[in-house]
Amino acid sequence: MEVLQLGDRFGRVATDLRVSLTDKCNLRCTYCMPAEGLDWLPDEKMLTDDELVRLIGVGVERLGIQEIRFTGGEPLVRRGIVDIIGRVREIGPDADLSMTTNALGLARSAQALADAGLDRVNVSLDTVRADTFKTITRRDRVDDVIAGLAAAEAAGLGPVKVNAVLMRGVNDDQAPELLRWCLDRGYELRFIEQMPLDAQHGWQRDGMVTADEIFARLATGFALTPAKEPRGSAPAELFLVDGGPGTVGVIASVTRPFCGDCDRVRLTADGQVRNCLFARDESDLRLALRSGAADDEIARRWVAAVAGKLPGHGIDDPGFLQPDRPMSAIGG
Ligand code: SAM
Repeated sequence: MEVLQLGDRFGRVATDLRVSLTDKCNLRCTYCMPAEGLDWLPDEKMLTDDELVRLIGVGVERLGIQEIRFTGGEPLVRRGIVDIIGRVREIGPDADLSMTTNALGLARSAQALADAGLDRVNVSLDTVRADTFKTITRRDRVDDVIAGLAAAEAAGLGPVKVNAVLMRGVNDDQAPELLRWCLDRGYELRFIEQMPLDAQHGWQRDGMVTADEIFARLATGFALTPAKEPRGSAPAELFLVDGGPGTVGVIASVTRPFCGDCDRVRLTADGQVRNCLFARDESDLRLALRSGAADDEIARRWVAAVAGKLPGHGIDDPGFLQPDRPMSAIGG
């Protein structure tokens, strides 16, 4: 079988596939979705489990994909997720399989996910205070997230990483507290700059908490020094906290973009390949699949989709346009 590379004109090769399992979510984080939710993808447009596994198989067996991150929406609300992960593990015995999740329900499913072949999880948690959690997510569920984190650790889904978005006047004053909480439990915390990917199109540059502000907040309680290991294509800049071994990461997609090292490609729950979170074009692999295309034809289409990747996300360009799909529908 011919193995192709997912390369682009700027020398980057995509080996990390982010797969959205659903656009639905059981939280309503204010920086992501409106309170009433969104018009969800209709069932007939969603890839079936078989279609999803087949496309991932094309990625792994023919296109050099080595890492797969399941995301959404909320991946744990997809029925059949344990089975999907088990089938992907069979296709890629050496692939790195991870999941980005809000951890609701993870307390129940962590062991089954680990047994099916999941390697690790990134859990989103912006605050450990119940009132702030409710303000941000519009749900009173912080204890469930905390239980999910503990279950992930116990099931061996580590190193457990925690993703946090800071919002000015809501939780930006809690950065040191959240870091202390994570360090005490051995979780690796990463702060993510808020990006223009909200469904409401309400993002404003002067409203977001920047990496520099995050460093200033953390400096009130901790001494950060750059971690020694090379960053490679990882989105997070890593720092040792108080000399280590604990670390903290900052994903500064807006103020310190890392597009030149990007090795990611995305597959949406309705079978569209996107070569960037901020891409304005998609390639319809679902249509190809349902029209009877063979795997090598699907692989060729996927290669063409990545070949057109732009050098950067363009948030700073005067003509920047936010993608039509929000983060929850692309797969964050
Ligand atoms: N539901 C899962 C979760 O909560 O992790 C996976 C999907 S969620 C879209 C993935 C990550 O994107 C979460 O950590 C979330 O906080 C983050 N996120 C959502 N909207 C964002 C935005 N506008 N800017 C930056 N991060 C965002």
